Amino acid sequence: MNAIAIDGPAASGKSTVGFQVGRSLDFVFFDTGVMYRAVAWAILEQGISSADSVSVGRVAGELPISVSAPRRDESDGRQATIQVGELDITWSIRSSQVDSIVSVVAANSQVRQELSRKQRLIGLKHGSGAGGKSGVVMAGRDIGTVVLPEAPLKIYLEAPLEERSRRRYREITERGKAADLSTVLDDMRLRDQVDSERAVAPLRPAADAHRIQTQGITVQEVVGRILALAADVLGAGPASTGDKDFPLEGSQGIQ
Ligand code: C5P
Repeated sequence: MNAIAIDGPAASGKSTVGFQVGRSLDFVFFDTGVMYRAVAWAILEQGISSADSVSVGRVAGELPISVSAPRRDESDGRQATIQVGELDITWSIRSSQVDSIVSVVAANSQVRQELSRKQRLIGLKHGSGAGGKSGVVMAGRDIGTVVLPEAPLKIYLEAPLEERSRRRYREITERGKAADLSTVLDDMRLRDQVDSERAVAPLRPAADAHRIQTQGITVQEVVGRILALAADVLGAGPASTGDKDFPLEGSQGIQ
């Protein structure tokens, strides 16, 4: 199976790095966080409380989420288009309202069951090459531990909370939105805590994951290290890397 699992906390670099690794290897890149965000967005739209676990679980089962490569006319910085039915929610799922409830939504066992089942099917399909690409890079919190534990290459990205908060702050302000660094930091600390302490599929590195610290090194270096591991473990290549400084997480992948 040609699958690379990339896990780690918010703004550790999963999407930025995963997207570039996918592009270099001609693998599909799939950022699983968008599915949890889509459910969080939907319950806000429907006025459902994140504490109403039965209704939240029902929404996760029914929501027609699709993730696809952006069309040519969708050149607004997105790396994937996220839809619910016909509605494009690519940017709506990045709102601070979604940020503030998504971890609670993702701790719901019904939600996890629904979404990880779908994610596993996506991973198995693309990992076997059945989707038309050579493999899959999946990013999330539990890919190496729960969604695709048989992935031959597992990466766990990490960076200190302060560094990750600065990345997220830059990402928001570069999109022209107002933000407050200390609020971003507090929100991220809380999200890390909920993600790590939940009963089902908590955020943690798989025992056989390669841990990479992303503070102080460029995207290119991180991508290069993962490509070297991919060549070793999967025999996958060629390796052409990106050349940007470490930007912010939030760029999404291509299904
Ligand atoms: O990666 P991103 O920050 O967009 O993910 C949003 C939230 O979705 C995370 O804080 C986490 O609660 C949840 N998530 C998860 N498992 C995944 C991916 C994301 O619980 N595989």
